[in-house]
Amino acid sequence: MEKIVSLCKRRGFVFQSSEIYGGLASCWDYGPLGVELKRNIKNYWWKKVVQERDDMVGIDASIMMHPQVWVASGHVAGFSDPLVECKDCRQRFRSTDIDLNKCPNCGGVLSEPRMFNLMFKTFMGPVEDAANIVYLRPETAQAQFVNFENVLSTTRKKLPFGIAQVGKSFRNEITTGNFIFRTREFEQMEIEYFVKPGTDEHWFDYWVNERLNYYVGLGIKKENLRLRQHDKEELAHYAKGCFDVDYNFPIGWSEIEGIANRGDFDLTQHSKFSGKTLDYFDEEKGERYLPYVIEPSSGVDRTLLAVLVDAYDEEVADKETRVVLHIKPEIAPVKVAVLPLSRNEKLSPMSKEVSALLRPHFMTQYDDAQSIGRRYRRQDEIGTPYCVTIDFQSLEDNQVTIRERDSMQQVRVPVSGLLDELMARFS
Ligand code: ATP
Repeated sequence: MEKIVSLCKRRGFVFQSSEIYGGLASCWDYGPLGVELKRNIKNYWWKKVVQERDDMVGIDASIMMHPQVWVASGHVAGFSDPLVECKDCRQRFRSTDIDLNKCPNCGGVLSEPRMFNLMFKTFMGPVEDAANIVYLRPETAQAQFVNFENVLSTTRKKLPFGIAQVGKSFRNEITTGNFIFRTREFEQMEIEYFVKPGTDEHWFDYWVNERLNYYVGLGIKKENLRLRQHDKEELAHYAKGCFDVDYNFPIGWSEIEGIANRGDFDLTQHSKFSGKTLDYFDEEKGERYLPYVIEPSSGVDRTLLAVLVDAYDEEVADKETRVVLHIKPEIAPVKVAVLPLSRNEKLSPMSKEVSALLRPHFMTQYDDAQSIGRRYRRQDEIGTPYCVTIDFQSLEDNQVTIRERDSMQQVRVPVSGLLDELMARFS
């Protein structure tokens, strides 16, 4: 994990938030490479779960919602963790994370656990009173339920169908840490998939498999992924079943996604609290019912961390160790690096032309500082799948070298065919 954190900082994937002020606990900023990787992960998810499917549509809801949403959903009453405080050093812990005999920090005596609500509260408008409390959403999911009828009537979808959303969520976690694994502000990619009651077990199994395969498709090694079924004690009272997709992080196997069969709990609650009917009319059968819902809920930041950990490798090449990120080319932050052999001014015009040719199609980096060997290493370290090198021979024969990241193999191609060649490799 230390190596990943250091690479992230050194190369501009992730910075500590407000660093020049000493940082803000558990808050992180994505830098120029991190923002590309993060966007590519979100786009990949969207492509797989929305664009490529006929039974899925997306929404982008506001972060602040009517406060009753969180009463209906059960978050106001129950979205809490048990908190204990050390009577000596005053450090706070989630009681389920530690042995309650002694403080893990100083060995002191711990208080009795008390429930601590994880939602961030603020006030809407200028008056700071109870009537104006709003919450920052602790999950994106409720907006899918609240908009169920809007989506149904505007898209004319038939069951089974799903609503997908990507966005920020906020939880005032008692303990944070392990870099971007557990933070108080994070991003989620969530699906609410509505099905006819009685078909829910089938769709639950379907989504559990689908979601595991998705991570393999994202380039994560199968042996570093596992499914973990929640036992009865762990299940939320309304949930019929739940699986986590765990990744084998350096901190141990930990959740990157949860998939739950939520029954009709959410639509029932929102129907009750809003007074609006949220049922579905099945035209074929001529019956009305409340759909059941299957919820695959993934974390963007945890996925990104898993991608980095999984891709990271140290290899010996030419008697030197090279650090390389074997990221799936489709989600790599930089797709192509254009590297003139040296800074010699004769190479510059052609190199700039090549760069201009590729830039509209690929996220491209131009780099002419330092030796070519070092520049290859720099690109390997950030996972750039292809480097294109322009040398003095290129000026004569109009050919350039493509170097592939993983095999380090080099081939020469005419500039006129370069774009097609790269396009073919990416597809
Ligand atoms: P955990 O048990 O680790 O607290 P959770 O079961 O509460 O997670 P869910 O409510 O199922 O998490 O949220 C779905 C996904 O959102 C998680 O799998 C994770 O990827 C992401 N997520 C949840 N909480 C955080 C957090 N504090 N920081 C970063 N990502 C988070």
